[in-house]
Amino acid sequence: MDKVDLKALISAAADTIAAHAEELTTLDQAIGDGDHGLNMKRGFEAVRAEADQFAAKPLPDALKAIGTKLVMTVGGASGPLFGTLFMALGKEIFPEPDRANLATAFGKAIEAVAARGKSQVGQKTMLDVLYPVHEALLQGRIGPEIVAAADKAAEATVPMKALRGRASFLGDRSIGHMDAGARSTALLVRAVAETIEGHA
Ligand code: ADP
Ligand code: MG
Repeated sequence: MDKVDLKALISAAADTIAAHAEELTTLDQAIGDGDHGLNMKRGFEAVRAEADQFAAKPLPDALKAIGTKLVMTVGGASGPLFGTLFMALGKEIFPEPDRANLATAFGKAIEAVAARGKSQVGQKTMLDVLYPVHEALLQGRIGPEIVAAADKAAEATVPMKALRGRASFLGDRSIGHMDAGARSTALLVRAVAETIEGHA
């Protein structure tokens, strides 16, 4: 893996969230309270605004600082969860990670999200995208395959019944809609994969 260009990653992540904010809002309107697009956009624009400061840090410290910023700015249920993902990733990742370290660190970070959300796979949340992406990483899949796995996993939340988060209040009526957090996670995975993997 080449040295991680954190500024490029931040910019790609913030761009995709901004470009899809309305779509995320629409998804969250169907089975939530309609704030997910705005929440994510606020958070990732706050990270973008300080991209130079983050990029000046070693990767582990940068990820921890980004996680803290996301907790402070995203809000909602997803803010602390995405924040935990990045903070935990920062704790486990090497300053110059190889693929094996990335996979291990990502696995630990997902466990931290699950602990924080008291959630597990199959409950129609961001975890339903994070787990298959981790699987794909462990299997040594390349960028486009990981992106495809993430998109497929987000699609797979459509027939699920929500068992965590606001959508769970709807019970069976949550069936038939994609989970907003699963979609935003898939968007971030695409941004990261395309930026890291030789601009695939
Ligand atoms: P809120 O639900 O407070 O309005 P957002 O709309 O920003 O917050 O985020 C909702 C998303 O957060 C959901 O689509 C889901 O993916 C994720 N989420 C909510 N609760 C949990 C949880 N306990 N575990 C994992 N993910 C969760
Ligand atoms: Mg919401």
